[in-house]
Amino acid sequence: MKKFYIETFGCQMNVHDSEKVIGTLVSQGYQQVETPEDAELVLYNTCSIRDKAEQKVFSRLQQFKREQGKGKVFAVLGCVAQQEGGKIFERAPHVSLVCGSASYNKLGDLLVQIERGDKRVTGLSLDTDETFETPMTRRDNPHRAYITIIEGCDKACAYCVVPMTRGPERSRTSESVLEEARRLADAGYTEVQLLGQNVNSYRDSSDRGWDFARLLRAVAGVPGLRRVRFTTSHPRDFVRDIIEAIDDHEVLCNHVHLPVQSGSSSVLDRMQRLYTRDQYMRRIEWMKAARRPIAISTDIIVGFPGESEADFEATLALLEEVEYDSVFSFKYSKRPNTPALALEDHIPEEEKSRRLTVLQDVQRAIQLRRNSALVGSTDEAMAEGFNNATGQWIGRTSQNRTLNFTHALHTAPGNGDNLIGRYLPVRVTRAGANSLAGEAVLSAN
Ligand code: SAM
Ligand code: SF4
Repeated sequence: MKKFYIETFGCQMNVHDSEKVIGTLVSQGYQQVETPEDAELVLYNTCSIRDKAEQKVFSRLQQFKREQGKGKVFAVLGCVAQQEGGKIFERAPHVSLVCGSASYNKLGDLLVQIERGDKRVTGLSLDTDETFETPMTRRDNPHRAYITIIEGCDKACAYCVVPMTRGPERSRTSESVLEEARRLADAGYTEVQLLGQNVNSYRDSSDRGWDFARLLRAVAGVPGLRRVRFTTSHPRDFVRDIIEAIDDHEVLCNHVHLPVQSGSSSVLDRMQRLYTRDQYMRRIEWMKAARRPIAISTDIIVGFPGESEADFEATLALLEEVEYDSVFSFKYSKRPNTPALALEDHIPEEEKSRRLTVLQDVQRAIQLRRNSALVGSTDEAMAEGFNNATGQWIGRTSQNRTLNFTHALHTAPGNGDNLIGRYLPVRVTRAGANSLAGEAVLSAN
């Protein structure tokens, strides 16, 4: 039995790609092990969205250089693999396989070449209209599963490597997505998360020609599913039908992640985001007018080249206006071969850090305010784990809030007492900026 170890960096797409890669390896007779020391094949599924993420993989490879002589094979997969290609062999000569995500369909063949003893094997073609589908996907979470619906990206945001590292947009057929959702529900999964760089650019590749809202409604109808999440949505392609689908189907989680990146239309224009602040705000208004309360989260980049103090203030004002439930914020990071490199007025690192801190402080106060307003209310939480240190079950609401709770009868997992995977009504008793705490409501009978 050949043993492999895999470490994954980056987004949920990468996490799910790794699940599929693991399935492919296991189907070829490999066995997964917990440490690189125990493995004959060491794989790093990499992220290059920001410079820091990219550096991580090279430091890992450096760490294991000394293993070179011990018969281990090293593989670099994912975005850094696609971005750096054959240059990785020069920088880390002990690497034998470099493969981008658009070539994972060929992974089985590439592994055969490695087993034959080939020392420099690459899968770097971006010229594909295929998605990576495998029935062998290995999933570790028994309740929540990812389903890829669309891969790649056809947008061209000035700061972003994704169109270059993940290739052009390719959607799966609706039937294959539905078939996977049904299979997961039959296997006991109650929550699925539909994944893509821009899920709402989805366009069924079969004759049905469904758009994203139509697909959402169909997945919501799969018997056995209790929660359907989706991420990420691009504001430009965000249509009202999506909100109507959420209003019509309780199963669709009332949470939308809609990255804005900046609150200034001139920055958005230079970022090539394809919408203005006003157009973005119109989508927010649609969501706020929905029948169900929809939680909204976003991504923000501070310190994009040329971002003035006034532009930054416009982003802070947008945060106050939207009142997001959560925000992922990043300092702009220069990425190879992206148009933003050529822009003038790059912002000094210290100034980017200052803006990030200011923004995060503003957002923390907003979240604390919003979460505090929920004290006293009751919401349904799915128990995802148990925290031994606090004695609380770790729960999540449909709106994607963390709601940790105690249960008068089930005080810890074990002895048939395990709540993990169950959905329970929880009364909120305390609020922090990033999570809520509460008590499970016991039913009268
Ligand atoms: N497709 C999604 C969208 O358009 O909103 C985002 C996908 S990207 C993997 C996730 C986030 O990383 C982006 O929303 C952006 O905020 C951030 N990001 C991408 N490139 C970046 C860069 N060069 N520097 C800093 N943050 C970046
Ligand atoms: Fe990157 Fe823009 Fe595509 Fe999102 S839409 S993946 S930010 S290029």
